[in-house]
Amino acid sequence: MLIVSKNKCVGCGICEIVCPEGMETFDGIARVKYEEAGCLGKVVKACPQKAIKEIKQDLLIAVATDDYKTIKSDDHVGMSKYFQIWKYSKGELTLKEKRENVKYEEDEEMIHGDPGKAKATSSVLSNIDVIVGKIFGPNIVRLRNKYVCAVVREPEIKKVTKIIKENIIEIVEEYNKQERRGIILR
Ligand code: SF4
Repeated sequence: MLIVSKNKCVGCGICEIVCPEGMETFDGIARVKYEEAGCLGKVVKACPQKAIKEIKQDLLIAVATDDYKTIKSDDHVGMSKYFQIWKYSKGELTLKEKRENVKYEEDEEMIHGDPGKAKATSSVLSNIDVIVGKIFGPNIVRLRNKYVCAVVREPEIKKVTKIIKENIIEIVEEYNKQERRGIILR
């Protein structure tokens, strides 16, 4: 599926010129209007901003929360009570599971940055690709080897899911990097 990055697109309209059947620009941003257009294959190369990408993979994304409505904001992600597990597939985000962070209480005794904390988080999120939260502690250097660590400032999870979808190109690019640094989603 072709996705346009709202962060990268400058609305130049080149993609629409290359494939008018498949692309259109609206309010200064391009979007795919017809997925089956025969000329869509050319637009990824044509975009000067590298704002269009074909996303084939599915991702499992864990959002750190204490109440299922807002992002954990008073401590780092490993100390959240729960994780909402979302699946990204073909442009859509679907809530799959509400997972209890069974390790967070025993973690409370450990100091921030303890390798045991990263291990505990990894055991709860063993099948996950991306962790989304407001605060990552010093253990981000360990977690980012296994996960895309994505920081969001927006508190409401409803709005965070929109931000995740808008940044999916950046998330996939980070996922495929050999040395991840963590990313900020805006
Ligand atoms: S060519 Fe790229 S930057 Fe220009 S409008 Fe299309 S997606 Fe946006």
